[in-house]
Amino acid sequence: MKRILITGAAGFLGSHLCDRFVEEGYHVIGMDNLITGDLKNIEHLFKLANFEFYNHDVTKFVSVPNELDFILHFASPASPIDYLKIPIQTLKVGALGTHNLLGLAKVKKARILIASTSEVYGDPLVHPQTEEYYGNVNTIGPRGVYDEAKRFMESITMAYHRFHKLETRIVRIFNTYGPRMRLNDGRVIPAFIGQALRGESLTVFGDGLQTRSFCYVDDQIEGIFRLLHSDYSLPINIGNPHEITIRDFAEEIVKLTGTDQKIVYKALPKDDPLQRQPDISKAKEILGWEPKVTRQEGMKKTYDYFKSLPKEELYKNEHKDFTEYNKQ
Ligand code: UDP
Repeated sequence: MKRILITGAAGFLGSHLCDRFVEEGYHVIGMDNLITGDLKNIEHLFKLANFEFYNHDVTKFVSVPNELDFILHFASPASPIDYLKIPIQTLKVGALGTHNLLGLAKVKKARILIASTSEVYGDPLVHPQTEEYYGNVNTIGPRGVYDEAKRFMESITMAYHRFHKLETRIVRIFNTYGPRMRLNDGRVIPAFIGQALRGESLTVFGDGLQTRSFCYVDDQIEGIFRLLHSDYSLPINIGNPHEITIRDFAEEIVKLTGTDQKIVYKALPKDDPLQRQPDISKAKEILGWEPKVTRQEGMKKTYDYFKSLPKEELYKNEHKDFTEYNKQ
């Protein structure tokens, strides 16, 4: 049985990856420090013999007993609000956490795949974004803590690949959505759905003419699965190229939820990228991958998930105290 370590296991993508690798017959070791992750996302796996969980912060030395064949490094805050609340941990998990996991991969002779992001392209001046584009990032802006940590993550991963001959894979993840996103993390899809379910107006930031391209989680997981098993070690975009303005998207959500919520406009957050669309030619050619789930199907499933949550979740503020994490 192949053994795989998945960091960020209790998070949105991490938990879906745990499900997928458990289903594929791997022995899955999940790891998370639960700052932004939630055990509810993986508690259904606890009874299985081929799943185990460590509550551990990967910015500290990481040790796992016995052999490891693969490591997936998916631990990181992933919403602009989280970067503001936990900026130092965001930097540390991308930088120090990645260093620890590369070290572990070297000792275990494991193949490691790291989760990078379309944010390495910053507010892109090239559209759609190809892997060759170097990006346009504000190092000292609010998103800088995430963007630069992920850029460092790519650099150190390539350094381990070239210098230590480690088997490495780098996925650049574009906006991905689906069940288990955090309802109150401020990202646009849970924000709009939460607002519709509470009967509030939908808050569009700026004029709403900025664009995003949303990928359903099952497609994203399939892309990552294929990349891990490929022999391609340069970064690869995984996302859905179907682009939409945030204003049109808000209207789609009003239709989907069958509510007649108003749309209100609020200030655009600093450095909010104006446009984002992945060029996925490489993923098509190298992995034979392209997204299959339409936004209509994916949003329906996502809406059904949020609707099924206990009603009090809709009104829950995130009361977590981040003071300790920020001090470290
Ligand atoms: N956005 C919005 N209203 C919200 C939350 C987000 O209009 O309540 C916008 C945000 O300004 C951005 C887009 O939706 O242009 C996607 O934001 P998100 O935080 O989901 O991810 P990003 O792609 O910016 O990292």
